[in-house]
Amino acid sequence: MKIENIDEPVRILNSNVDVKSVIREIAQDVNQEEAFYVCHLDEIVQKHRIWESRMPRVEPHYAVKCNDNITVLEVLAALGTSFDCASKVEIAKVLSVGVSTDRIIFANPAKPASHVRYAASVGVATMTFDNESELYKIQNLYPNARLVIRIRCDAVDAQCPLGMKFGCDPVKDAPYLLDIAKSLNLNVVGVSFHVGSGCREATVFHRAISFCKDLFNYADNLGYCFTLLDIGGGYPGVRGSSIDEIANVVNDALDIFFPDPSIQIIAEPGRFYVTSAYTLTCNIHSIRNVGNREDGSRKMHKMYYINDGVYGSFNCILYDHQVVKPQPLRDYVGTKKYSSSIWGPTCDGLDQVIEDVVLPEMNIGDWIVFEDMGAYTLPVASPFNGFPIPKVHYIASESVWNMLKDVVTMSEDSFKMMDGSMSKKLESANNRYNYSDIPATIELPHYN
Ligand code: PLP
Repeated sequence: MKIENIDEPVRILNSNVDVKSVIREIAQDVNQEEAFYVCHLDEIVQKHRIWESRMPRVEPHYAVKCNDNITVLEVLAALGTSFDCASKVEIAKVLSVGVSTDRIIFANPAKPASHVRYAASVGVATMTFDNESELYKIQNLYPNARLVIRIRCDAVDAQCPLGMKFGCDPVKDAPYLLDIAKSLNLNVVGVSFHVGSGCREATVFHRAISFCKDLFNYADNLGYCFTLLDIGGGYPGVRGSSIDEIANVVNDALDIFFPDPSIQIIAEPGRFYVTSAYTLTCNIHSIRNVGNREDGSRKMHKMYYINDGVYGSFNCILYDHQVVKPQPLRDYVGTKKYSSSIWGPTCDGLDQVIEDVVLPEMNIGDWIVFEDMGAYTLPVASPFNGFPIPKVHYIASESVWNMLKDVVTMSEDSFKMMDGSMSKKLESANNRYNYSDIPATIELPHYN
C-alpha cells in the first residue's frame, strides 16, 4: 500500500512569533482567498511532555482516526509514541513513517476480513475483539494474533459515547468470550476499554480499571497470563483543558489494581494530542442582512457565508458534537454589533456553522478564526459542491524543530548508552527517517 505525503514543508519560526501573527501574514496575501489551517507542531510536542509527566506508566498509542495527517504521525513517531489504528489504510500510513509493527494496536473490535489479512501480512499482531464472531474470524485468518478483549464501561457524560457500539459487558459477556477464546486456543493478552470520546467524568477510569482487574483474575484461572491493559481514549484536548483529574484517577487505580510494573499499560489518546495544534481561518465571501430595514424597532440579523462548512472542517459539529467559537481576525474597535449566524459555502440548508452569535459588523473579505480544530475535522472533510478542503501550513519553533531533528539523528552510540525503553523509542524513530529530508529551515522574515 503506497501512502503519499503531500504535506507542505514545515516553516521554522523566529522566536516570539505566535500563531495569530502567522495567520495574519498568510491572510494579508492578496492571492489568499481559501480557508486555511495553521498547525503549530510545538503544541503536539508540549502535549506529549504533559502526557509523560502526568501518566508516566501509560504508553500513549495515538488514535490515528482523530487526525491522520502524515506530518502529525511523523512528529509523534519521532517523539516515541505508539499508534492505535482502526483499518488497514491507517496501519499502512503508520508503517509508511517507519514505525515498527510492535508499536501498533489494531484497536477496532469489528474488522473486515481483508483488514485482518493485511494485519497478518505485515505482522501487526495486537488487536481488539468484543464478540464471538470476531474470535472465529481471527482464528481463521490470524491465529497467532495477540488479542485484547474490549469491555464496555461508559462515562456518565461524554462528548461522543461509544459504548452503544463497542465493548462487551465486563460481567455478563467477557468471561464467556474468554472461555471461547481459550477453547479456540487463541492468544488473549489483555483487556481494553474506551469510556467515551471527550470524557467528562474522570472517575469512570477507576470503575473501568477495576473491571479489568477482575478479568485479569478470571483469565488467570483459565490458564492465561495477561500482560496488557489498554485504558483507551477520552482525554480532553482543547486549550485550557487539563488531563490532571483523569491522570490522578488513573494513577491511583493503577496503584491499587495493577501495582505490578511488568504489566504493560497503554492508552489510545486522540483529541488530546492534536485539538489545540490546529487553528482554522475562514474567509467571508458573502453577507445577507435579514430583518426589517424600514422598521427600526426590529433588529437586523447578519448572515455571514464563509468558505468552509459542515461538509468540510465543520463536520465536527455534526459528528463530533463540537461547539466552535468564531473570533474575527481583525480588531473592530467601535464597530456596531449584530446578532449573526455563520454559514458554510455549500447549497445545503444544513450547512450552518453557528446559529446565533453576537459579532461586530464584518465585511466581505474579512477573516474569522476558529481555534482547537485539530481533532475529527480534516480526516472526515469532503470537497462537496467543489469547495476545497483547507490547506494546512505547518509551523514549529526553532528549538522544537532542532529537538525533533536531534531525536532522529542520534548516533548508534548515544542510544546504546540509554536505558532500554528510551533506546527502543529512539531506535525505532531513527530507523525510519531523516528529518533532513523535509526541506530545512525556512524563515518567515516578517514574523519578528
Ligand atoms: N480508541 C478508539 C478505539 C476510538 O474509537 C477512539 C475514538 O473514537 C479513540 C481511541 C480516541 O478517542 P479520543 O480522541 O477521545 O482520545
